[in-house]
Amino acid sequence: MITPSETVVYSASLVFPVTSPRIEDGAVAVRDGRILHVGDRRWVLEALSARGSAFREERWDGVIAPGLVNAHTHLQYTHMSEVAARDYTGFDDWGDAFDVVYERGPHDWAAAAAEGAALSIAAGVTAAADVVTDREAIGALHDAGLHGISYWEVYGKSNADWDERARDEVRAQIRSIPSPPGAGVSPHAPYSLEVQPLLELPDIVREEGLRLHIHLAEAHMEREFDGIDGYAGPAGHGEWPELGADSFRALRSHGIGVSSTQFVDHLGVLGPDCHIAHGVYVSAEDRALLRTRGTSVALCPRSNAVIGLDMPPVAAYLREGNPIAVGTDSLSSSPSLDLLADVAVLYRVAREQGYRGDDLHQRLFVAATLGGATALGLHVGKERIGQLGVGAVADLAMFEVDSRDPDVALATLVEDGAGRARRTIIGGTERFSTGTA
Ligand SMILES: [Zn+2]
Repeated sequence: MITPSETVVYSASLVFPVTSPRIEDGAVAVRDGRILHVGDRRWVLEALSARGSAFREERWDGVIAPGLVNAHTHLQYTHMSEVAARDYTGFDDWGDAFDVVYERGPHDWAAAAAEGAALSIAAGVTAAADVVTDREAIGALHDAGLHGISYWEVYGKSNADWDERARDEVRAQIRSIPSPPGAGVSPHAPYSLEVQPLLELPDIVREEGLRLHIHLAEAHMEREFDGIDGYAGPAGHGEWPELGADSFRALRSHGIGVSSTQFVDHLGVLGPDCHIAHGVYVSAEDRALLRTRGTSVALCPRSNAVIGLDMPPVAAYLREGNPIAVGTDSLSSSPSLDLLADVAVLYRVAREQGYRGDDLHQRLFVAATLGGATALGLHVGKERIGQLGVGAVADLAMFEVDSRDPDVALATLVEDGAGRARRTIIGGTERFSTGTA
């Protein structure tokens, strides 16, 4: 048992702090749930001795890294894996299958979300962006001791539905999200909400200083196109806002080819306090817009594959400098909650898309840690995560990797990291261990 003010030194043959160079024979000293020192093992031990601090050392024969940040999931769908058991031809095809299982019930959303949290922690995940649709699952991150943000999802609201009662309902829901972790709202997607809720939800969230998260550019119909011939004039590409359409679907039915990214940007959804999930169907202009707004994208390639979508343009995001993170999505569209399995797919896809840089391992490992923290607004400040740095929250993951060579070990975690998590420490408290070191 770790007592609260006890100092524990986690030492390992390799430590990957992410915000500083990789360390061979390194150590991370933890006290009161925070990181006290990170560095060369000998130096850390000497620094503690010089302070006269009592400490205990725990040795790990592998890699110690920051806990992984799953930047997009729905833990409450953990018991809906039958939906992900086959492949689909696109978002509507998958959505129909999802609706059948969702509506059939009965569901114990709390139990499913708790199991999803446990599976996540066993994969080295210490924080998540968890999108919650049913009230019973709202405490999943809190109850499991996970960090991150619980997002209350708002789904299927028309302009007519969006009245004072609906607004009050959202305010009440977000105030009742148990803390920690942080709280936010997820307006589901540009095609499932009409203009009025998409316009007003960000203001409700920002009044409270909370976070936003939206499924964006996930479905084929969200991609930018040139518009239908014969529909020129004032409703041409650039003038679509003047149409005053009720919804994104209405714009599409008018033959307007504006992308969903440009559409939600016009409504004020994007910004540094918002991150998007998927970002598959984005043009170069859309990616530039996301960068301009400081909006990160959580890439979920295994979910995209099950649903029958294209792979996200990860090589372009990396080359152009977009902030990226990684998400598993839920077990209703993905085979597991093991984030490093998605990282491995992103590696392969980036190479297939022509990304040649020798920094690919490093950049994707950053995406799964600090990039996730950045997406959730948790990369700086008192509650910062996704990094092993002095004063940061002590969220650590320990992985089994045979090589003692830092480059080989990093490549192993990125290309073949799934199933390698052995011990997970969240806020200085051990939450998972295979029991073997
Ligand atoms: Zn999702």
